[in-house]
Amino acid sequence: MTKVIAINAGSSSLKFQLFEMPEETVITKGIIERIGLENAVFTITVDGEKQKDITDIPNHDVAVQMLLSKLTSTGIIQSLNEIDGVGHRVVHGGEVFNDSVVITEETIAKFEELSDLAPLHNPANITGIRAFQNVLPTTPAVAVFDTAFHQTMPESSFLYSLPYEYYKEYGIRKYGFHGTSHKYVSQRAAEMLGRPLEQLRLISCHLGNGASIAAIEGGRSIDTSMGFTPLAGVTMGTRSGNIDPALIPFIMEKTDKSAEGVLDVLNKQSGMLGVSGFSSDLRDIEIQSAEGNERARLALDVFSNRIHKYIGSYAARMNGVDAIIFTAGIGENSETIRAEVLNGLEFMGIYWDPTLNKTRGEEAFINYPHSPVKVVVIPTDEEVMIARDVTRLS
Ligand code: ADP
Repeated sequence: MTKVIAINAGSSSLKFQLFEMPEETVITKGIIERIGLENAVFTITVDGEKQKDITDIPNHDVAVQMLLSKLTSTGIIQSLNEIDGVGHRVVHGGEVFNDSVVITEETIAKFEELSDLAPLHNPANITGIRAFQNVLPTTPAVAVFDTAFHQTMPESSFLYSLPYEYYKEYGIRKYGFHGTSHKYVSQRAAEMLGRPLEQLRLISCHLGNGASIAAIEGGRSIDTSMGFTPLAGVTMGTRSGNIDPALIPFIMEKTDKSAEGVLDVLNKQSGMLGVSGFSSDLRDIEIQSAEGNERARLALDVFSNRIHKYIGSYAARMNGVDAIIFTAGIGENSETIRAEVLNGLEFMGIYWDPTLNKTRGEEAFINYPHSPVKVVVIPTDEEVMIARDVTRLS
């Protein structure tokens, strides 16, 4: 039996989950938010109860020290020696990493080089790695990448129709994200279907604040909707997803914004927030739509329409599909979105049951038994994938 901690460090937050492996039991989990700001919030589950501390946490080093002393002071662990491995989420592994990797100085240097591709994410992930190294210098650490699962995409999927030398010189290509989630749910779907993953064609819909769709053939990602950055693909909470690129200079001219300013709009003020005009949160939009708000209705329609089209497109890409998977906050919980996405797909052999579709937040099939294509809701678990890779590699 070993204890492994899975870490997801953002620029001002640090999520953690401590596992007993190989049983995969969650011992505790929590999040530290507002690191570097006043009144940071440290939330941790102790004996099944959430504890919340509000205090100033100036940086990630202090956050990690607080986390580890909390684990010992609450008796969750007796000593830090009990932690056998640390797994870190690293957003961008570029073309260098097609699997998780044991962290060394050499790999950190590579993550730093890749910060060019993920300037908002990789530096924060590295800060988290360094903070743990400072406190647990001899404990093995493993990096798990959002991009790694999609490294199996063929060139015909990942290449943009741009001058080829841009790919070679600047690394301009589709990388894809949410890979750990797509990998987890595809493996779980195969188990639930009782069929070998190698024989399955799956379309996985990860629908959270960020959203991406993946075409997974024989357990390998062969296409995905996010691109060079997580801005591409379907409509999201605040991100536009795909737009005509010629709009960027047009919006710059009309609004007198810089390229960065327009990018900021596409990342933070678009998507369901932009269309609805009041929220990026699907729950708010569903409530308003039910009360007759037209723009809320439109946001739901735009969102589900894009996902619906990706399903058709990826089914064509794989010459058929065996199962559709819904996961993440919206995919796991929203009956409305699943219904809108699936409506009319009977022509592809997708027959779904409105009663079963009422399911929320748990594993369930929502297709009729006779449906040739199965539809399955699977809560994602990126943390357990991180813990598994720590156990496998360290
Ligand atoms: P993130 O990408 O930040 O991890 P999540 O996977 O937590 O996002 O998904 C957040 C989205 O899920 C929000 O739009 C939220 O409204 C939606 N969501 C969460 N719970 C429900 C629910 N019970 N019903 C409908 N939508 C939900």
